[in-house]
Amino acid sequence: MRCEFIADHPDFRRLETIDGIVIDLRYVGADNFVGRDLYGNLDCAWLHHEAATALQTAAKWLREHHPQYRLVVLDALRPHRVQEMLWKHLEGTPLRMYVADPARGSIHSFGMAVDVTVLDADGNELDMGSAYDEMVEKSHPALEQKMLAEGQLTPHQISQRELLRQAMFHGGFRGINSEWWHFNCGDPVVVRQTYLRVD
Ligand SMILES: [Zn+2]
Repeated sequence: MRCEFIADHPDFRRLETIDGIVIDLRYVGADNFVGRDLYGNLDCAWLHHEAATALQTAAKWLREHHPQYRLVVLDALRPHRVQEMLWKHLEGTPLRMYVADPARGSIHSFGMAVDVTVLDADGNELDMGSAYDEMVEKSHPALEQKMLAEGQLTPHQISQRELLRQAMFHGGFRGINSEWWHFNCGDPVVVRQTYLRVD
């Protein structure tokens, strides 16, 4: 389905309808690793309604347990055509491991993945030890203990990531090994096989 028709499809829900989150999509505008506006006029402030419900549960858990903090959404639905652009942008670099091959499809393109971090009471992002889309080993949840042992991450930075994970896991999301900010809703294999991809 073309992204232009998403508002007419019942599977998808606008981010604005999710209580208690902040929306700061980084691929709108040039504040992203590519350095230019990737979404342009495309309206990408959407998730599949299952992921939207999960995110609402995560936000509610955070509000109840850490009322000073809020979840901020950095990316949600990412149309397949944008995924192809990212893939092309990283051609010939080792950074391609951070971007799903368009031939397989990104879970973002089904509205079933979200990139998210935590804001403090002043609206500042918590220090997670690396920035959003910083494609380095320090960003890998699977390597946190190694990075801690090497002094590349502090216990405080890891505990802030744990807080984000706790909130997202309460919503039913699962993390991935290579990006602390990325969470999938549902089984990626099932999503790719049975959900509607937004192109
Ligand atoms: Zn992601």
